[in-house]
Amino acid sequence: MEIKTISVGPITNFYAIEENGKTMLVDTGCYLNFPGWTLKAAMSGVDFSTVSLIVLTHGHMDHCGGVNHAKALTGAKILAHADTANFLNTGKFTPYRPRNAVGQAFYDNIANPAPLDIPQPVEIDIPVTEETDLHPYGFSAKVIMTPGHTLDAVSVVFDSGEAFVGDTVLDPFGEGLCTFAVLSLDDEKLKESGQKLLDAGLKCAYSGHGGPFTREQVETALRNLIETNS
Ligand SMILES: [Zn+2]
Ligand SMILES: [Zn+2]
Repeated sequence: MEIKTISVGPITNFYAIEENGKTMLVDTGCYLNFPGWTLKAAMSGVDFSTVSLIVLTHGHMDHCGGVNHAKALTGAKILAHADTANFLNTGKFTPYRPRNAVGQAFYDNIANPAPLDIPQPVEIDIPVTEETDLHPYGFSAKVIMTPGHTLDAVSVVFDSGEAFVGDTVLDPFGEGLCTFAVLSLDDEKLKESGQKLLDAGLKCAYSGHGGPFTREQVETALRNLIETNS
């Protein structure tokens, strides 16, 4: 397996994971805030013809704003939570709210949701609402439901322990922090999702913002979430 981290601006990532000649994208980034940034150029190290699956971690602009371009470049099938369709059809962010002071600062400075014009609504080829095995699609991985940050949040966990977690675990300001989502719609579900990721065998967490994070960092972040809401 080969993991390519594709950067979108200073603190946002998405991923191309190649395994046995097939490539999965986890998220597609977004070009809107970064003039001159194009998906095609950012993905120059990826053979588009091998991309067969695009997994969207949740319906936020910084994770799937570029999905139309990714679909057009690759023709890959899109897998996402069925409720992510709302964002893909309307540009309205899946709801979330600040969980603590760090979340409030993040919300005020970076993540205040403005509606986004989606140029062409894009259809989810494989809508999911429960754990989904990706072996039939040629990847030694599964998609698990990890609600909390948003209720449509999903993660991809490979059998070998690499986990792609969207905003469930992140470094919100690019300062070396590892924390569970500081924007969260449901804190109890967020805690359960953290445990679910560890139980699924997470060895390394690849985030939409910062990272990657070790299992130990994720365990510590989960303890901080549960004990002090930090
Ligand atoms: Zn998000
Ligand atoms: Zn994000």
